[in-house]
Amino acid sequence: MTDKIIIEDLECFGYHGVLAEEKKLGQKFLISMELSVDTTLAAETDACKDTVDYSRICSQVKDLVQEEVYDLIETLAEQIARKILHSFSSVTMLQVTVKKPWAPLMTSLGTVGVQITRGWHRVYLGVGSNIGDSKGTIEKAALLLSRHKDIRNLRLTSLISTKPYGVKDQPDFVNGAIYLETILEPKALLRITQSIEKEMGRERKQHWGPRTLDLDILFFDDRISDDPQLLLPHPEIPKRDFVLAPLTELNPYLIHPVYRKQVSELLDDLTRKASYEKTLA
Ligand code: ATP
Ligand code: CA
Ligand code: CA
Repeated sequence: MTDKIIIEDLECFGYHGVLAEEKKLGQKFLISMELSVDTTLAAETDACKDTVDYSRICSQVKDLVQEEVYDLIETLAEQIARKILHSFSSVTMLQVTVKKPWAPLMTSLGTVGVQITRGWHRVYLGVGSNIGDSKGTIEKAALLLSRHKDIRNLRLTSLISTKPYGVKDQPDFVNGAIYLETILEPKALLRITQSIEKEMGRERKQHWGPRTLDLDILFFDDRISDDPQLLLPHPEIPKRDFVLAPLTELNPYLIHPVYRKQVSELLDDLTRKASYEKTLA
């Protein structure tokens, strides 16, 4: 269950701005934050250690605003969000508002500010390989991902051997799935998965052809995207038992945001369909 902690208009002093005067003289910044936190444990124990310590948050934010220097309050807001998400693991999502009440504008207004929302996203990846030491390659890829500073709580499923899909005339595959949490946005995560594929010797010669490593983004929270560069959820999920079986191992209750069915139900549907088709053959 998520609850909210709200901090309003924390007064900080800093040197952010594009003008030389702003960087020299500094000015006041007002920082507001709305943090989504699991507070159930703290409510039971009434212990400070089980919740997010507001005073530590405030002092970390004040230090960051004072010590760093950015041109844009957008960058400042981004850095505040990253700092909180990395330092306080029970914060799953937060909204940060940065206001500049003394902004040097040639007009009269109350304050000027920006507001951003950032959080830890829940992501499922499909992994496959049918060239070289497939198991070793997949485990290395999982390790590289888990070491990334913006990724946490990574879990790799057991690996299964499967018959090739699409192009049949190629070696059997080793397949599995990965669960991870990340503060990266989908395209940034795709850039990382593609660079790991490359590092592992992936060459794109033939669609659905043999490969040392394939990392597909299957689900990114409940996001739906028809951008061909990054389709979400991955469109082939309901047709692939080698994807649905590892997903079911990770979380059988995971719901496909388009089909509105659990992955375990999609796997049952597919198995039933395959055995029905066998009776027709
Ligand atoms: P399939 O996507 O059907 O499993 P594939 O994995 O063999 O096929 P690739 O050659 O690895 O396909 O990728 C082709 C393109 O697919 C990539 O350039 C990438 O931009 C795009 N793409 C679209 N949606 C996704 C996604 N959800 N995850 C990874 N890549 C995706
Ligand atoms: Ca694929
Ligand atoms: Ca792919």
